[in-house]
Amino acid sequence: MKTKLVLNFNPESSNLPITHHLIAEHGLLVNILRAEIDEVGGKMVIEVSGKADSIRKGIDYLKDASVGVRPIKEGVRRDDEACTHCGACISICPTNALSLDPKTRKVLFTEEKCVACGVCIDACPPRAMEILI
Ligand code: SF4
Ligand code: SF4
Repeated sequence: MKTKLVLNFNPESSNLPITHHLIAEHGLLVNILRAEIDEVGGKMVIEVSGKADSIRKGIDYLKDASVGVRPIKEGVRRDDEACTHCGACISICPTNALSLDPKTRKVLFTEEKCVACGVCIDACPPRAMEILI
């Protein structure tokens, strides 16, 4: 199975080699979708793949290591009422999930292409993009 997780780090957990541990000790594949972390803490969005029991044990390890863990159940959504179609998100989206419709000049959001990296969330002036957790 495959799941996406938002991880929150404090000063104690920010220097732990958590991805190495998840890979080496739990046999998981770890794809880092977004990371904003330094020595005092931060946030990371990862996608983990593996056996369900291994993922559960990996999450237990993270919690024991004082890492906040929140599963992303539904990914990212756009509030179409709030979007002003300014286009600020288009060039920063790594998967082209956000693109310009050449006919209408509106910004399209293709959910199937979105990997929930979260880059557009901070970049959107009216905060129209939100992560669902
Ligand atoms: S940055 Fe926000 S408001 Fe601008 S087009 Fe993208 S989603 Fe819409
Ligand atoms: S979270 Fe935003 S920037 Fe990241 S893939 Fe999805 S739409 Fe693109």
